[in-house]
Amino acid sequence: MVPIAFIGLGHMGLPMARNLLRAGYALKVFDLVRSAVDTLAGEGAVAADSAADAIDQAKVVISMLPASRHVEGLYLGDAGLLAQLPAGTLVIECSTIAPEAARKVHAAARERGIALLDAPVSGGTGGAAAGTLTFMVGGEAEALEKARPMLAAMGKNIFHAGPEGAGQVAKVCNNQVLAVQMIATAEAMAMGVANGLEPAVLAEIMRQSSGGNWTLEKYNPWPGVMENAPASNGYSGGFMAELMAKDLGLAQETASHSGNNAPMGALALQLYRLLLKQGKGKQDFSVIQQLFVE
Ligand code: NAD
Repeated sequence: MVPIAFIGLGHMGLPMARNLLRAGYALKVFDLVRSAVDTLAGEGAVAADSAADAIDQAKVVISMLPASRHVEGLYLGDAGLLAQLPAGTLVIECSTIAPEAARKVHAAARERGIALLDAPVSGGTGGAAAGTLTFMVGGEAEALEKARPMLAAMGKNIFHAGPEGAGQVAKVCNNQVLAVQMIATAEAMAMGVANGLEPAVLAEIMRQSSGGNWTLEKYNPWPGVMENAPASNGYSGGFMAELMAKDLGLAQETASHSGNNAPMGALALQLYRLLLKQGKGKQDFSVIQQLFVE
C-alpha cells in the first residue's frame, strides 16, 4: 500500500489517520501539537518532526487543518509542500476552506504536475471515529479513483461534487443548513422546556415528526438528552463553535460571490459571532443552546 503523510491530527484528523492505520496503510504523521503525533506513533505510525519530514518518501499527502490560511501556509510559497513534492504525488486536502483558496492551491499543484483533490468531510467526530464520513470531492475524476481506497478507509459516502473547489462549495452549503437546523432545534428545545416539557420527550416527538433533522437524530444540543452528544459532555469535543462561525463566513462569501441571498446563513453567522464574544468559541457548536436558556 502507498506510504501516506498525514498532516493535522486534531479532533478529526487523528481518528481519520487511525482508520488508515487500521486499514494497513503506512503513515508518517505530523501536527504542531506533539502529543497528537505521539498518540498515533504509539499505534504504529511514524512520527515526523515537521511537515517537510512527514512528506519524505510519501506518495500521498492527506491534510486536515483548521482554515484557509493554514492550508495556504502549508502548501504554497517557496517553503510550501507543493514546492518540495515530486510530480505524480496525490494530495487529498480534507479541511473546510474557502472555495477560492482551494482553487488557488489546485492551480499551484497543477503547475507542478501534482494531483490534488479538495475533499472536505461531513459526519463529525463520531463519523471520523467510526469511519463513516461523507467526502465531498472536487477535482479530476482520475485523481479521485486513485484516492478512493483511502477515502473508503475513512468514510462511507464518497461524492464527486465536480471540478476544483466544488467539494468546498458543497461543504459550505451543507454546513449552512446544519447551523440553521442546530439553532432552530436549540431555540425550540428551550421554548418547550420553559413551557413544562421534559427535554427527552420533546426531543423524541420532534425527531419523529416533521421537525426531525440531523441534530435531533445525532447531536441534540440539550444536555442529557443524548448520552454521546457533546451537550452531555459539557459541550467538549466535537466541532468547535469558532469553526462553525468560519464555515458560515465562507458561506456568506460564496453567496456574495455568486450574487445569491443567504439571509438564514447571515443570521446564523450573527448568532455564532455572539457566542464567540461570550468566550464559547472553543466549545462544541451545539453550545448555541445556551443563547436561549441564559
Ligand atoms: P482541530 O482544530 O481540532 O484540528 C486541527 C489540527 O491542525 C490541530 O491539531 C492543529 O494543531 C493542526 N495544525 C494547524 N496548523 C498546522 C500546521 N501548519 N501543520 C500541522 N498541523 C497543523 O480542528 P478539527 O475539528 O479537526 O477540524 C479540522 C477541519 O475539519 C476544519 O476545517 C473543520 O472545519 C473541518 N471539520 C470539522 C468537523 C468536526 O466535527 N470537528 C466536521 C467536519 C469538518
